[in-house]
Amino acid sequence: MNRRFLARSLLFFLALSTISTPIWAADKAARPNIVLIFSDDHAWQAISAYGESRKLLQTPNIDRLAREGVRFNRCLVPNSICGPSRATLLTGKYNHLNGFYNNTNSKFDGSQMTFPKLLGKAGYQTAIFGKWHLISQPTGFDHWHILPGQGVYYNPPMIRNGQRVKHEGYTTDILTDLSVDWLKQRDKSKPFLLMLHHKAPHREWEPALRHLGHDKDRKYPEPDTLFDDYAGRGKAEREQDMTIAKTMTLRDLKLVPLSQLNAEQRKVWDAYYEPRNQAFRKANLKGKDLVRWKYNRYLHDYLGCIKAVDESVGRVLNYLDDEKLADNTLVVYSSDQGFYVGEHGWFDKRWIFEESLRTPLLMRWPSTAKAGTVNKDIVSNLDIAETFLDAAGITPPAEMQGRSLVPLLKGQTPADWRKSFYYHYYEHPAVHSVHRHYGVVTPRYKLVYFYEPDADYWELFDLQKDPQEMRSVYGQPEYAEAQKELHAELKRLRKELKVPDPDPKEADIKPRRPKQP
Ligand code: CA
Repeated sequence: MNRRFLARSLLFFLALSTISTPIWAADKAARPNIVLIFSDDHAWQAISAYGESRKLLQTPNIDRLAREGVRFNRCLVPNSICGPSRATLLTGKYNHLNGFYNNTNSKFDGSQMTFPKLLGKAGYQTAIFGKWHLISQPTGFDHWHILPGQGVYYNPPMIRNGQRVKHEGYTTDILTDLSVDWLKQRDKSKPFLLMLHHKAPHREWEPALRHLGHDKDRKYPEPDTLFDDYAGRGKAEREQDMTIAKTMTLRDLKLVPLSQLNAEQRKVWDAYYEPRNQAFRKANLKGKDLVRWKYNRYLHDYLGCIKAVDESVGRVLNYLDDEKLADNTLVVYSSDQGFYVGEHGWFDKRWIFEESLRTPLLMRWPSTAKAGTVNKDIVSNLDIAETFLDAAGITPPAEMQGRSLVPLLKGQTPADWRKSFYYHYYEHPAVHSVHRHYGVVTPRYKLVYFYEPDADYWELFDLQKDPQEMRSVYGQPEYAEAQKELHAELKRLRKELKVPDPDPKEADIKPRRPKQP
């Protein structure tokens, strides 16, 4: 009896251990660490893995993510502007549902559902470093250490869990140091979410001292549309205020001293810029020559900032390698939107047009993603929240409007994946004077509606015949059928996505802006 009992107990114990061990192990293996490196205004044209024809810059560390993971070629943002894009990232929702419409007056409601909150609840350690730009203080992170507002490039004041602190040095490097230090001191028994959000390469494009002169005074290839006259398009495109020719300020162009530098930094800064500025003043350039000078100065500075971001990516990847964490860590590189690097004569973003609509998105997850894949499906930063939740084995809340990219990482795009995309920009009147517009994007077409009383018109672009979007074909008989279908698709998407029609009242879109945190 006793022996039988013992034998049974032993069998029961063995059965339990064989059942419980694999479940426990599988559960642990299924919960990857997540690292999101998110930059501000980084054009896909300025990442060498995207293979842009101008070959503006080599980004070897960001390229590693493409080589060892998946490069998404058509990641579109629902609203091409900083704050709204960040609100979408956190909530997996369009701005009309997360309430953050524009940078000028919106304030993020931190009580709403976000993916870091859900990961935290599921046992992840969560931290964010760097650019936040959502006016209210971060919620749902174990640790946060952010730049107030837009942040600065040198010697940045920051806010650490609600306390103001001051740092010395170059912001991109400081944010990387803080992130790696946090990784080092983490509780190693738990998976982690690290969000490293750079200020760079946002305006006013101030490179690290070590990158001044990185291009050896190269003359950059010009985009075909640098001297675009906006014929073939409407009032909004003609009357914007974001050209290299007219809008760039003396500070953008480094023709006035930079106030945040200490004496030592200023010496190195001036040694680079001063002789070049003197030569520029002496040359007294006019017309196209002046625009070309500004374009080259802009590119030196903008790309210089990206060099430090690329090094930051390299440092984080090295840490993961050294700690043997790379295999089960999902590393994502993206930007809050795309950016103009001289195309159409522009810098900045905001438009439904390709350079600002598309943002870089690279994902490496060696245990799951097929290395070296290029994905051409329409994906979005709307999908990032659900991708992270899916990766962590958490069912996303039904209110989220994106879709997990995990099947795409495995090379298995679902048959019912989205074939069209809705876009909506609200920030007008405001800096850069881009009129409000919305529209639908398909692989071949773009139907756009500028809907304010002083700029009220439709446009249609055939991306196959006119990839640079130089000529609207709206109303042309040969496009009648496509136009009709696109109108129907736009209507369908607005309904499906619960877009208020008409827009919410001005007072709802523009709540009174509170004081900075
Ligand atoms: Ca931005």
